[in-house]
Amino acid sequence: MKIGVLALQGDFDAHRRRLEDLGAEVALVKHPGQFDEIDGLVIPGGESGTFLKLLGEEGFEKLRQFVQAKPTFGTCAGAILLAKEVENPKQTGLGALDIRIRRNAYGRQIDSSIRQGRLGEEPLEMVFIRAPKIERVGPAVEVIATQGDDPVAVRQGKVMAATFHPELSDDTRVHREFLALIRNGK
Ligand code: GLN
Repeated sequence: MKIGVLALQGDFDAHRRRLEDLGAEVALVKHPGQFDEIDGLVIPGGESGTFLKLLGEEGFEKLRQFVQAKPTFGTCAGAILLAKEVENPKQTGLGALDIRIRRNAYGRQIDSSIRQGRLGEEPLEMVFIRAPKIERVGPAVEVIATQGDDPVAVRQGKVMAATFHPELSDDTRVHREFLALIRNGK
């Protein structure tokens, strides 16, 4: 099982380390041709608009095909890319998750923070950095983590997303959940 981490921009290295610590083989994905070699993909945080620019139309289309076929996990900017509807400003999404997501939704004063949330019923530390907010969750989307009243991690079929950065906390549960999703071949 080989997992790709999209390495165009952003904090891909923390994901690589976390996945390797959990025993996975990791490939840093720098061009769409590598999609054929991987069984799952992590789209890291960064700047979603920059990802779109760097991917270009062809890269975006290849990524769209990949996420329809194989397990994908997006964090923060990655979650924005996977969404069906993106606000503030409006932006193209891959449409893999039936959610509406608002970029930079917490304002400048609290644009980065560490908060306690819940993964299922269990407490989980969550690192938010210029985080988006999930404003609408479609009927096929399962909420797997919450912070206060907000959904902050969701899953639809084999696609998962979190608005926080699990790769920056010591807790490995969220990444383990993604590895289980790949293993189960859902
Ligand atoms: N604010 C970024 C965006 O809108 C996401 C921030 C992050 O990935 N940490 O794309």
